[in-house]
Parts: sequence; structure tokens; C-alpha cells
Amino acid sequence: MTWSFSLGRLFGSELRIHVTFFLLLAWVGFASYSEGGPDAALNNVLFVCALFACVVAHEFGHALVARRYGIKTPDITLLPIGGLARLERMPENPLHEIAVALAGPAVNVVIWAVLIALGARTSTDALIALDGTGAGFLGRLALVNLFLAVFNLIPAFPMDGGRVFRAVLCLRMDRVKATRYAAYAGQAVAVVLGFLGLTGGNPVLVLVAVFVFVAANAENQDVAMRAVTRRMMARDAMITSFEALSPADTLGTAAQAVIRTTQHEFPVVDETGSLLGFVTRGNLFAALAAEHPRSDPATSVMEENIPRVNLASGLEDVLDLLHKGAPAVAVCSEVGAMLGYVTRENVGELIVIRGR
Ligand SMILES: [Zn+2]
Repeated sequence: MTWSFSLGRLFGSELRIHVTFFLLLAWVGFASYSEGGPDAALNNVLFVCALFACVVAHEFGHALVARRYGIKTPDITLLPIGGLARLERMPENPLHEIAVALAGPAVNVVIWAVLIALGARTSTDALIALDGTGAGFLGRLALVNLFLAVFNLIPAFPMDGGRVFRAVLCLRMDRVKATRYAAYAGQAVAVVLGFLGLTGGNPVLVLVAVFVFVAANAENQDVAMRAVTRRMMARDAMITSFEALSPADTLGTAAQAVIRTTQHEFPVVDETGSLLGFVTRGNLFAALAAEHPRSDPATSVMEENIPRVNLASGLEDVLDLLHKGAPAVAVCSEVGAMLGYVTRENVGELIVIRGR
């Protein structure tokens, strides 16, 4: 994730922090300073840091259980809205998925129990109103951990409870259908949260609702896409009718090709037919906007790191490469000649045609 930097490695995962997190800290510090002076500012900033340590612990709960099933977690990123453990893949065995999903909230329950044992006091009234004021530092932290556990257990995507719900449905139906139901549940929850946020004048709740709605939809589409791609190969999806550029072509030639065709990306192919890289419409426009001379070679804006696969490569692997940010995946013959290429857009078209 861009705009984030590394804090170091912990249990084999890189812990990253997003710069906007510091904006949140600064805002909390400033807001409480103007209301209650330096003591309140320090207290609240420390509280946010302690809260995010609990969020990190929650994510490591997922990561360490996933590792037991042989799934690595390359990195965990702290965002102002919470943590994000990037698992290499999701476990597809429903029972494993349940264990991985429950491990996060379980960590928060353990923290809550430890804090209570250490003497943190929270009243049930405060719990219902979600109002930690007057409960003291440890009391507030205990309360917030209980909230994290309960909120994440709501049986709707993208919350952890949604994964449990999907996994349970998977025992009786296929994964695509199960994901669709869990995503619908997520969107229903999002609508309720959004309504509560709007009527109660709570902008944070509205933001959470939007996030939940979008994430539920994204997971639904991703799983549907994967189900179709698993049955296919790169040859089924590749674009074979396209215009290519030669290494001698200029930015001006490439710009004309953008207008003449519907392509958004152009392979640069040498005289032997092997691929040198791709010129994307985005890179080309940026170069022209920066007033690069049109006589500059098109290769000056070419992306060279284009993943290559062969005709029989699985389309799911191709999709993974596109997810990692490649503008296109080239399909090459055994001697390295370019046969065609696959973009996210044309996998999307394939899904519409074949996936229903
Ligand atoms: Zn979680």
C-alpha cells in the first residue's frame, strides 16, 4: 500500500503504518488540547496508540492462525479506520476460514478479560451507550476491545463474522452463492448503519457504513471472478487482435494509435516478435501533459516489468498478477514471441459473457 511505511517485522510479517494515521493522532491531540489542555491531549493520544496496539494484536490473531494452515501474511497495515492483514490467500476450507476469522475477535476478548482482571471497571450502562467517559484509561480500553470483538462478529461481509457466516453457508452451498448472501447481509447492515449515522448526526458511522457497503460488494465480485477464472486458461481470455508499437515509434505515433483504436495499452514488440514492454494510455497522457516532445521515443514511457505467462497458464494466476498492479499480462510462446495479452477489463468482459 502506498503512503505507508514500515515499522519493522513482527512474527514474520511486516508491520506498516499509513501516514494518515498520524493525521488522526494529530487531530485527536489538537481537539483534546483545545478542550482539556495538555493532560487531556496526552491522555487521548496515548489512548489512540493503545487502541491501535489492540487492533494490531487482532490482526496478528488472524495472521498467526492463518500461518498454521500454511498461509503467510506478508504485511499488516495500520489505517485510521483499523488494521488490514494482507493474507497471501484466503483459506478455502470452511473450517479453516472460521478459525482464522474468529482468531481476531478472540484476541480482543482476551485483552478485555485481562484488563478486567487488572482492575479495569466498565459499567453496563456505559457499554450500551458506548460511552467510556469516566471509566478511566483501562476501563475505556476494555470497553473498546469488547466493542471491537462484538462489531467484528456481526455476520455480514466484510466483518470477520461475515467470513464465519460465509464459511457456514459454504458447508451447504457453493462458495460463490455463499459469498453473495454474506455480501447482501453486509450491505443490509451498511444501510442500517448509514441510516443510524445520518439520523443520529454521526459522520463516523456514515463513513463506516460506506466502507462496509463498498467492501461487501468488492468481495462478492472478486469471488465471482475467481470462480469463473479457475476453470479457464490464459488462452481463453487473451486479446489477439491488437495494434503493437515498434521500438522506433515516437510518443506522437503512440498518441495517434490511442485515437485510432479502442486499446488503452500498447505492447512494444521488436522485429523478432518479442515483447519489450507496454505503453499505457495513462503514461502517455502524463508524458504529453508534462510537455514531453512528441518526437521522444515511445519507449521512454514504457513499462518494462510486464509479467509473462504461456497459453496454458491458469487464468486465476493471471488475475493475481493483474491484482498486484500489472497493466497487462503478456501471453508468450515458448521461444518468447508475444501471442497476445490479458487486461483486467477483458477478464471482466469474459466474466459477463461466461460467468452467468
Ligand atoms: Zn478481523
